[in-house]
Amino acid sequence: MPHLHLKLAASAVALALAAPAVFAAEPTTGGNETVADWYNNGQKFVADSKKVFPNNRKAKNVIFFVGDGMGVSTVTAARILEGQMKGATGEENRLSFENFPALALSKTYSWDQQTSDSAPTMTAMITGYKAREGQLSVNHLTTRGECSSAVIATNSVPTLLEQAAAAGKATGVVSTARITHATPAATYAHTSVRDWEHNGQVAAACAGVADPVKDIARQMIELSPTVKNSLKVALGGGRDYFRHNAQFDPENTTKKGLRTDGRDLTAEWVSSRANAKFVYDNAGFAAATPANTDFLLGLFERSHMQYEADRNKTTAGEPSLTEMTEKAISMLKKNQGGFFLHVEAGRIDHAHHAGNAKRALLDTVELSNAVKKAMEMTDPNDTLIVVTADHSHVFTIAGYPHRGNDILGLAREVPNTDGETPTPSLAGDGLPYTTLGYHNGPGAVGRTDLSSVDTTALNYMQQAIVPMGSETHAGEDVAIYANGPKAHLVRGSMEQNWIYHVMRDAFGF
Ligand SMILES: [Zn+2]
Repeated sequence: MPHLHLKLAASAVALALAAPAVFAAEPTTGGNETVADWYNNGQKFVADSKKVFPNNRKAKNVIFFVGDGMGVSTVTAARILEGQMKGATGEENRLSFENFPALALSKTYSWDQQTSDSAPTMTAMITGYKAREGQLSVNHLTTRGECSSAVIATNSVPTLLEQAAAAGKATGVVSTARITHATPAATYAHTSVRDWEHNGQVAAACAGVADPVKDIARQMIELSPTVKNSLKVALGGGRDYFRHNAQFDPENTTKKGLRTDGRDLTAEWVSSRANAKFVYDNAGFAAATPANTDFLLGLFERSHMQYEADRNKTTAGEPSLTEMTEKAISMLKKNQGGFFLHVEAGRIDHAHHAGNAKRALLDTVELSNAVKKAMEMTDPNDTLIVVTADHSHVFTIAGYPHRGNDILGLAREVPNTDGETPTPSLAGDGLPYTTLGYHNGPGAVGRTDLSSVDTTALNYMQQAIVPMGSETHAGEDVAIYANGPKAHLVRGSMEQNWIYHVMRDAFGF
């Protein structure tokens, strides 16, 4: 490896002269940079930063990406994994949104939770108000389990999607989770319980209530006329919540829907809108284009969509987050007045809950790909793109692994002698350990010897200390990345609900 032969740029001479002597033997545990590279890339960053000026234009379009559960450690590990998949050491890699000029930290507590769930956190980001556990786009005065549709209407707070619709924007919602799951649902639904996704769940909880709030799936179909006309595209999972319990599923023909009211909301989407389509697989998805469809509902699984690592890519399978983002933008662009699009990588969260880092990280890489596609299809002069998370997970990057150590492997420290092959570091119990781990979750099954275990396998579950059937969310801040009009308003330490106010200001509402 020729990486220690110095290629000195003029500006790097001063530093290079002061640099330590070249190693006698080339280290096997470092990167490929020259000494001058460190100096030069720092200088380039300063020069590039001086070319960044606040963009105070109005945003014609806003695209709001949420990596569900994408804490800072998840971003770091995904960046390393993506770099290593490209054959590099990995640490120096950057996910697409890491090149955005604006960055801030988001404080994710909700009105009543120190460590919060996706419902109040998305409510904060999409309405501007912090809310209560499990509640969607209603204010924090709403009682737990409130059934009354009149009370919910009184306590509802408008979402940015609804306000964009009122301003003549086209709107869209994309998620790899059920489209009725907390994060996407907060954009269009108002309810006191995030789990009321189909009518049977409301009926069980609100028996005897004269006018109970509508279930989330029904709210997505029965929108106000303005929002109904604006919501051009909804892509995700959750078909069972839209179809009734005497109706066989189009893909899995032995299974029936969940609704107990005899309604097929997928058919109602088509019949209650002009030039509308409902699709459920890649063949239908490919056939629905901006040229032949004005309203597209795609529900590609009975419940959540597949993880990117498991996705069936055939015509009978389902699209990637990138493909759904591309389709949504292409449809929304038909509106000359601009659009608002929410895209959720919903299953980063689910893989973490399962204590399964690899699937979480591969879904994070796919989110990065979707953001890259959105950047390619839009102009930063008129499109604000925000990428953030609703909350973190108890996921850590631990030990002193050497540069380029397999991020999914056992932690191996830099050896004492250059040129020596690093061996797995041993913990106090004499056993090796993985770099990645969880504080709690299903991986808390006791310390076992991992010496001959393939910890890079897709199904490998990282070790944890506190036993729990499902690994939990974490309470530390998450990052907010922004590019485009008013991106510079994303700065410093922010309350999570301020994100809404930045996006709304960018639209000029
Ligand atoms: Zn979660």
